[in-house]
Amino acid sequence: MHSPLAWPGPQPTLARIRAYRSYLTILPRDDRSAVVHLLAGCHPYHIETGRHTVPYTVREVRLCRFCARDAVETELHVPPGCDGTAISEARDEYLVALEERQPRIYHVWVESEGDEAFLAAWLAADEVVPLLGMRVRWTFEQCAAIQPRRRVPDGN
Ligand SMILES: [Zn+2]
Repeated sequence: MHSPLAWPGPQPTLARIRAYRSYLTILPRDDRSAVVHLLAGCHPYHIETGRHTVPYTVREVRLCRFCARDAVETELHVPPGCDGTAISEARDEYLVALEERQPRIYHVWVESEGDEAFLAAWLAADEVVPLLGMRVRWTFEQCAAIQPRRRVPDGN
């Protein structure tokens, strides 16, 4: 019988847990801190801040503040995939910079199987991970300037 408290999958080895992560070398420190907070789920995106509201905000109404889509504002939506004007224009600038450092990264984004795959590719590429830090920190700063958006329940 599988215990609900068991690790979901094979136990990671100590060597795997202690493995080098290129994002831990990002400078400046604020950029590195933003990536660590993103990966730890401790960030200002609505998916996280909505958990701590009173009354509680259900996941489905924690909408992205940057675009008009009914997308939940998650760590997988905003940095790689949001098409809001400010976010997408800034992303285009980052992708140009990424392409200069690592040719084909733009194609990885276009051809990736979703935002999670692109974020994983971005994290795995040592040459461009500092740009991820800049990007994530910038989106965090934007969250401080723009109020989160909620879906209005039907009938109101
Ligand atoms: Zn969005």
